[in-house]
Amino acid sequence: MIVEIVTTGTELLLGQIVDTNTSFLSQKLNQLGFDVLYHSTVGDNKIRMTQVFSNALHRSDIIITSGGLGPTQGDITKEVTAQLLNRPLFLDEDSVKNIKSFFVKRQVVMSENNLRQGMIPEGAIIMKNECGTAPGVILEHDNKTIIHLPGPPHELKWMFEHAVVPYLKKRFNLQGVIVSKILHTYGIGESSLEEKIKDFIISQSNPTIALLARQGEVIIRLTAKGNTVVEAKDLIAGLEKQLRQQIADYIWGLDNDTLEANIGKILTQKQLTIALAESCTGGLITSRITDISGSSDYLVGSIVCYTNKIKTDFIGIPPQIIIDHGAVSHQTASLLATNIRQKFTANIGMGITGIAGPNGATPTKPVGTVFIAVDGPLGIQCKKYTFNGQRTDIKYRISQAALHMLRQYTLSL
Ligand code: AMP
Ligand code: MG
Repeated sequence: MIVEIVTTGTELLLGQIVDTNTSFLSQKLNQLGFDVLYHSTVGDNKIRMTQVFSNALHRSDIIITSGGLGPTQGDITKEVTAQLLNRPLFLDEDSVKNIKSFFVKRQVVMSENNLRQGMIPEGAIIMKNECGTAPGVILEHDNKTIIHLPGPPHELKWMFEHAVVPYLKKRFNLQGVIVSKILHTYGIGESSLEEKIKDFIISQSNPTIALLARQGEVIIRLTAKGNTVVEAKDLIAGLEKQLRQQIADYIWGLDNDTLEANIGKILTQKQLTIALAESCTGGLITSRITDISGSSDYLVGSIVCYTNKIKTDFIGIPPQIIIDHGAVSHQTASLLATNIRQKFTANIGMGITGIAGPNGATPTKPVGTVFIAVDGPLGIQCKKYTFNGQRTDIKYRISQAALHMLRQYTLSL
């Protein structure tokens, strides 16, 4: 069964709102085992919407639309379908009652144009809308199915779960499920990773493997089709085990794991505390650490030591170190880590100093140069990195690198 999702609304084409309905519907339909092969978006224009619906009817078996069921003149979805399939609209009395009672319950006066929402194409299955006023409709036509859902995401979700899923299950006697699992990696580029697991990529069928480079990390998505969730999960587990034999060292997390949560667990479990002295990241690493509830158990505190004066006056970096080696140096980063650790009496101290750009580069230290140091029971570790990108990208990549160093350090304690 080929499914096409068509979102309608000029505001989507203008980029004024983010199309969350497509991502919701795609995820749900994939989980149900449907092949979602097309996403289309069209504005509130009768001619173009007719073209898009007509294309979708040619190439897909099920078309699910969002938006355009409201009361205004721009809401034309049902009108377009009615004309395309030659199913005249009629005013459905039950829908009218529901719309009227929605306004009575909220003690709001209803304007007459709201009744437009009760206009239904002939022969449609009507889906009640308990979160709003516009009913949804399902039309079966020449072995094709068109499903119109309202645009507001909470209404669409409710109607999908309560009316569309039961309909699809019954009508198509559903054929299994699709399950995905994400492996987060760090410390290896997309092409090197592909090289290491290329045999699996070449021979993939079920599960499939996809590599996706994201900001500061590469993720591997494994997707399996099975008759049941357990069967699909077993297929994924088999492949994951084989992949781990090649790349276990690079995998640090699964699915929705975040580095900051992962580190939080390690620090809590090992009863370790941490303090940071951040220069070029301006507190970003500390901010990410505090995104985790309960971080006060392990984060003692942090200083954003942006100028040399603050590095000297508050963290005790000798001015001569900065004169001899520079603020962006192995020596300064290491002393930031050691001194903040001592001043804040933490188990672990981190020092981060670098050039986020676009200004501040020197012939030996290009934009993106950063030194990250960790000091703790194992002694000092300091690494130099060079990152590419815009200022905010570089800052984020530095935070990724710093959190990974912290993770590695604490894991070996
Ligand atoms: P409509 O039913 O077309 O009048 O849409 C009503 C509202 O739903 C819009 O103003 C948006 O705020 C929201 N909406 C419509 N389509 C989408 C979409 N694809 N993703 C997220 N929100 C949407
Ligand atoms: Mg609209």
